[in-house]
Amino acid sequence: MNVLIVGSGGREHTIAWKLLQSPRVEKVYCAPGNGGTAQIATNAPIDVHDFAALAQFVKDEGIDLTVVGPEDPLLGGIVDFFQERNLPIFGPSSHAAKIEGSKSFAKSLMKRYNIPTAAYESFLDYESAIAYVREQGAPIVVKADGLAAGKGVVVAETLEEAEEALHQIMQENIFGHAGARVVIEECMRGEELSLLSFVDGETVKPMITSQDHKRVFNDDQGPNTGGMGTYAPVPQMSAELVNEIVETVVKPMAKGMAADGIPFKGVLYTGLMITSEGPKVVEFNARFGDPETQVILPLLETDLLEIFLATVSGELASLDVTWKKESAVCVVMAAPGYPGEYPKGAPIHGLEQVEEPVTVFHAGTKAVPEGIVTSGGRVLGVTSTGENLEKAREAAYAVARKISFEGAHYRTDIAARAIRNGE
Ligand code: ATP
Repeated sequence: MNVLIVGSGGREHTIAWKLLQSPRVEKVYCAPGNGGTAQIATNAPIDVHDFAALAQFVKDEGIDLTVVGPEDPLLGGIVDFFQERNLPIFGPSSHAAKIEGSKSFAKSLMKRYNIPTAAYESFLDYESAIAYVREQGAPIVVKADGLAAGKGVVVAETLEEAEEALHQIMQENIFGHAGARVVIEECMRGEELSLLSFVDGETVKPMITSQDHKRVFNDDQGPNTGGMGTYAPVPQMSAELVNEIVETVVKPMAKGMAADGIPFKGVLYTGLMITSEGPKVVEFNARFGDPETQVILPLLETDLLEIFLATVSGELASLDVTWKKESAVCVVMAAPGYPGEYPKGAPIHGLEQVEEPVTVFHAGTKAVPEGIVTSGGRVLGVTSTGENLEKAREAAYAVARKISFEGAHYRTDIAARAIRNGE
């Protein structure tokens, strides 16, 4: 079979790498792809929003399945567009993807299906929002309703911070339309982690747990990023806790959405906080996480193509999804200045020395005649598996230290806390 992957990040490189291990996969294409996918697949320079060009490419190249990485095309309706043309595609409809695109939509579904999450109210009107935060007091969380590239959430420790956030979002309109509505939530405390699941509308097959490191510097210091590194599975997450999350969160969500006529098909990403009252949902995403995918898929035993096909056809129930009894660690190497402004085009050295069990998943890279150069903020995800977290971590860092590009920086404490707290 021939497969097209839509997107250009580390997540898409990882999906391509994993699919190529399937005996049934002949050719993998990436649109637009990156320097890493160029080495193992065929890149097609098509914009992820140009659905007509993507559909035409699928027809021209005899592609049997399209897999969508990022949220933007999902929310824009790429799945609906392909389905109307009878082109098989893995991912949720734009309506189902709204659980990521609108926080108030996600919260209203959680309320309706009795899924544990922070108490909340949503507001279109600034004065009412201000009155509500004053009544509730701090700490409190203020969120722009729509997508704001991870910047639309303010965990306000004081009332002044909360009021300033409301002013910025609702009066200064710093997020434009995404901030026309705000969601104000109770502030939760606890360990944060994610559980991704394959969902075919009815059946839920959970993946292994993973944890991201969002802040740019060690010890969770500095500004938020798209994610500086991940590990899987999370040792502190017992099988009982995973089961509790599946039964109280993921299954009720899938069941409720199907009953409401918006079945979710694809990867349901559940961000959770383990509070003193038990696990509560922070957010849902409608796709694979990046860089969670980089540590999850190397540990998958089952053929990923079979999972995608079973999800699309609604036959996940009859498929056994199994995982290796190992751990994985991904260390993100970023461009100087990231998550702020950063230069592009720096040559990357040391990639040729990488050997098993380490894989370097490319994110912001480009293949040029001279080799591979940087082209984004998060450049590489140096990933290793190992018999435990410590071994995986050592192997990933040993390779990261040998790779260089001008101004490269990375956290040196990925998975360190999990290891310290005892596997
Ligand atoms: P955007 O929509 O701007 O891309 P996002 O989808 O990443 O943002 P969330 O995941 O909802 O936004 O929130 C970002 C972070 O804020 C979370 O990872 C969590 O650390 C913190 N957070 C969100 N909600 C709460 C809450 N109710 N209590 C405490 N912390 C929270």
